[in-house]
Amino acid sequence: MVSGPIDLSPLQRELDNLRLQLCHCNHAGTCLGCQGVEMLRQQVQMIVSAASQPVLLQVAQETQAKELVKQVQEMQERLLRDPEAARALEELLKYFQAPPDEETPTNH
Ligand SMILES: [Zn+2]
Repeated sequence: MVSGPIDLSPLQRELDNLRLQLCHCNHAGTCLGCQGVEMLRQQVQMIVSAASQPVLLQVAQETQAKELVKQVQEMQERLLRDPEAARALEELLKYFQAPPDEETPTNH
């Protein structure tokens, strides 16, 4: 079981790096890169807080986790229109690896 707060600083650094690479709005927070990264940052925090809650909530967590994965995939589809963003997002999605029993199609 996870106890106590989780150190997200390495991931936050990655997100900051990703945003720097994707940003086209001079950090005004209006471009897809900024918005996507901030959305992912929020989702990471949601995932972490859900995953560190008591086991009694596990079913709800799993539902929530699936919903989050769906949202991430939708964001990924939007970002895929930008090849540069897609590549950076691919790196980031390593943090969102699905459980081994999930279907994980490879497009290579
Ligand atoms: Zn931007």
